[in-house]
Amino acid sequence: DAKSSGKSQCKLYESTMAIEVKSRTLLEVELKKAVDEEQFLLYYQPLLDYKSGRITKAEALIRWDHPQYGLIPPSEFINIAEEDGLIISMGEWVLRTACEQCKTWHDNGCPLSVSVNISAIQLQNDFFAESVRNILNTTGLDPKYLELEVTESELIKRIDENIDKLKELRDMGVRIALDDFGTGYSSLSYLYMLPISDLKIDKSFIDEVCSDRRIEAIIDGIILLSKGLDLDVTAEGVEKEEQFKLLADKGCDRIQGYYISRPLEASRLEEFYTSGGAVNDFSMVL
Ligand code: C2E
Ligand code: MG
Ligand code: MG
Ligand code: MG
Repeated sequence: DAKSSGKSQCKLYESTMAIEVKSRTLLEVELKKAVDEEQFLLYYQPLLDYKSGRITKAEALIRWDHPQYGLIPPSEFINIAEEDGLIISMGEWVLRTACEQCKTWHDNGCPLSVSVNISAIQLQNDFFAESVRNILNTTGLDPKYLELEVTESELIKRIDENIDKLKELRDMGVRIALDDFGTGYSSLSYLYMLPISDLKIDKSFIDEVCSDRRIEAIIDGIILLSKGLDLDVTAEGVEKEEQFKLLADKGCDRIQGYYISRPLEASRLEEFYTSGGAVNDFSMVL
């Protein structure tokens, strides 16, 4: 009857809530432990430079190597780390590990740049620039090989403060990329104020570039705008040959996506570089 089913629905709802609350708390505790014990791995996804046909850069992407659940993607824990402040120490680990790795590649004859995603919470931390400077000093990595990726929607919230923080980093010789471009609500006028060197077109546009003439027009506009502002432009999430051909033809400086390679372990990235990125033969396409 209605009364008992109503009751059982209520009970179900309560128990679901309890599980959610519990798992969230548990996740926070485990995440704290994971930061202390450095239970993380960085994967590196190669970016292909269209003009040279070579891999010139790799994006560091974090995974949580959980003792029970195995590799957990960042979408499952970055938000939590941002909310409870763990992103500061986690982000520092990411930055240090990526810079150490990049220096190792250089020592092994692979002159790659590394790009690292940073959260606005890290950027706004008073000690961030100092921490970047310290990591560059101790790893011995030339700042020009480090790129920091920030998303436009996060920057907009405290735009003046963020511009100052980014300028300080630019002055150190670090590159700044605007990630997931096109997905935020930002005004185009911010583009010339931000001290950025690179712009990454979000995958959601790339997905439709071959099927929707209007999306193609937007991408044409972004590329033209990037050239005018002296920004290097990367297409993110390129999966298919037809997308690759079209974007390369349009003058995208760099291509990133499963079509080139999935994110790889550091040693595999080095092999990929050394073999000329030869999973696909790009010289055939270019
Ligand atoms: P993002 O910075 O935009 O990174 C690109 C994401 O797209 C990565 O997902 C990558 O694996 C995925 N991807 C690349 N090419 C393709 C493709 O062709 N097809 C598909 N389906 N996916 C592709 P991932 O590694 O799961 O990272 C997701 C997001 O998590 C990143 O998006 C970034 O915003 C964040 N993230 C990753 N690592 C870190 C980190 O160390 N710190 C911070 N703060 N955020 C991070
Ligand atoms: Mg990124
Ligand atoms: Mg991102
Ligand atoms: Mg992105």
